[in-house]
Amino acid sequence: MKIKCPSCKKDAELAMDFSSVKCGSCDFDMSYGEYVKFVAHNEIKYSDILGDYTGSTEGHTSGSLDEWD
Ligand SMILES: [Zn+2]
Repeated sequence: MKIKCPSCKKDAELAMDFSSVKCGSCDFDMSYGEYVKFVAHNEIKYSDILGDYTGSTEGHTSGSLDEWD
């Protein structure tokens, strides 16, 4: 099914068995579990609503996003 690519915001494809998420518009390609964490991480970055959640599960991760490109 189609889901939003968290990297380029275009359509990515979620495998029927939820095993992977792949985007045809960029090189986004990871497991669904990683995708969920990736999206959650971005939402934390862009919103302070979950501000008190940061730091509890992830340390200093700035710069790690380079890996996704
Ligand atoms: Zn993409």
